Amino acid sequence: MSVSDLCSTSVSTTSSADISSPGSESTSTTPKYTPALIIIDMQNDFVYGTLAVPDAATIIEPVNSLIDLPFKVKVATRDFHPDSHISFAETHRKPLFSTTMIYHPEDPHEIMGMQQVLWPIHCVAYTGGADFVPGLKTTEFDAVVHKGTHPNIESYSAFRDIWHKAVSELPDILASHGITDVYFAGLAGDYCVKYTALDAVEFGYKSWVVTDAVKSISQDQLAFEEMKKKGVELITCEDLMARLNAFGD
Ligand SMILES: [Zn+2]
Repeated sequence: MSVSDLCSTSVSTTSSADISSPGSESTSTTPKYTPALIIIDMQNDFVYGTLAVPDAATIIEPVNSLIDLPFKVKVATRDFHPDSHISFAETHRKPLFSTTMIYHPEDPHEIMGMQQVLWPIHCVAYTGGADFVPGLKTTEFDAVVHKGTHPNIESYSAFRDIWHKAVSELPDILASHGITDVYFAGLAGDYCVKYTALDAVEFGYKSWVVTDAVKSISQDQLAFEEMKKKGVELITCEDLMARLNAFGD
């Protein structure tokens, strides 16, 4: 089966504001196109479990087809929470999917509140729910970045927490490989994929979301519209395959 067979959704690629690649403002040469693939949260709880994203299982094969492509580096992320994580409704004894204000542990005066959606218990570290979904080509990953590991800190982006106080190992991984373009696929399009792709722009990368290898909790297209507005490019699996071949060594 070809990538184009697996990727049926037709979403046209749009261009937006030109995003400088890291180092491109230097006077000499433009960095060589060096793409990375980041697979976001393809975990049991997000596919079949307590916080299952609609139709998530349908992107396992498209994601695997991306993993087969010749990226310089392939990274996976996992939500990886302690038992009583701050994002769980049960931790606050409030209704599922209600919201509450949360504060960073180093913000005792509660100055920088963030409105948190209260989720079902999900992706508890070292449980089956946090494992990669069966069938995913996990042996190809060069690194796995864990998110939300502190009991009182939430992270949607794989780059940093929601308060932007601590950065993960992801920027170092990308920098050490000279990455210029970062491609995102996985779950959920309107949370962890979106916030990671937006942060990739902020960290100076050309940021791409592979639309037919992503599923979202919401069925509207608002997350994609927001990403486009903020400089993220959208691409299909098929167009990405053609692009990688065109830039291939
Ligand atoms: Zn989570």
